[in-house]
Amino acid sequence: MTAQIIDGTAIAQKVRNEVKDKVAARIAAGKSQPALATVLVGERIDSATYVSMKQKACAELGMTSYHKPLPADISQEDLEKLIKELNADPKVNGILVQLPLPSHLDEERVLQLISIEKDVDGFSPINLGRLAQKGREPLFVPCTPYGCIYLLKEAGVTIKGANAVVLGRSNIVGMPAALLLVKEDATVTVVHSRTKDIPAVMKNADIIIAAIGRAEMVRGDWIKPGAAVIDVGINGVPKLGPDGQQMISPKTGKPMQRLVGDVNYEEAKEVAGFITPVPGGVGPMTIAMLMANTLRAAEIQDK
Ligand code: NDP
Repeated sequence: MTAQIIDGTAIAQKVRNEVKDKVAARIAAGKSQPALATVLVGERIDSATYVSMKQKACAELGMTSYHKPLPADISQEDLEKLIKELNADPKVNGILVQLPLPSHLDEERVLQLISIEKDVDGFSPINLGRLAQKGREPLFVPCTPYGCIYLLKEAGVTIKGANAVVLGRSNIVGMPAALLLVKEDATVTVVHSRTKDIPAVMKNADIIIAAIGRAEMVRGDWIKPGAAVIDVGINGVPKLGPDGQQMISPKTGKPMQRLVGDVNYEEAKEVAGFITPVPGGVGPMTIAMLMANTLRAAEIQDK
């Protein structure tokens, strides 16, 4: 069997087009242009790249973004002051604090401070708590897990009644993904670093969401034939040339890398029913869902 590839790039583009159309329609109806504030502390290159992709997406979809770059040594007090100002600013619909924050800052306190109506990343304890409670709905679902469920639905995978295994239990991916699957009536097992015999736990999984940050750890023979595999992992591994040697960038002189997921794609695609590639699977969905959440924030704040 060769798995059906779930094309995250195309599905993310569809979400972006829908958001773009809705933004244009609300502006034509005289409503405000949705606006996202991006808060970037320090100069981590990966974080700066993610923030600039988010700003670019806002511009493409007709939304405004306000960028707030802050020095790496900003105090907790000053960062909290900025969050309070953004909470109070009627021009700002969504607030995104790019994580991780430098270690001297209390991430939890910062996330807790973001107004629930502007928490477009869905990381505030109130939004996550609502996700965990029966009969309650969060205002926003964290973007990456939201994207994972969206991909499963777009691919036509039946979630209701399915056995699902989520690998990883982080606050931003694994745990909210597990909670979302429970809300969708799957029976969910969460695997983490203390889980014994992971292949045995996965044996009956109809749906696998892998978010552990371990390059190609999930092997083909761990996967039930026909299962749907959503690979969240983004891991850099050495890029080897045809001679099997590490490739060196002619531009920078540095060792080159390629990206792989948490699943061994070549093996898994021969067993799974559906699979997301890395790159081009979950990655593009995260920003698309952030854009959908920012539009939703503007709609909530219209009321
Ligand atoms: P974290 O490091 O916060 O969490 C990793 C989780 O995996 C933990 O729960 C940990 O267990 C578990 N884990 C680690 N090693 C093992 C192991 N050997 N066996 C079983 N479980 C293990 O990572 P994130 O959730 O932030 O990210 C996970 C991956 O997803 C990363 O590769 C990241 O780059 C990627 N990512 C991709 C995004 C996208 O847009 N596509 C967005 C966000 C993340 P324990 O709790 O016991 O420590």
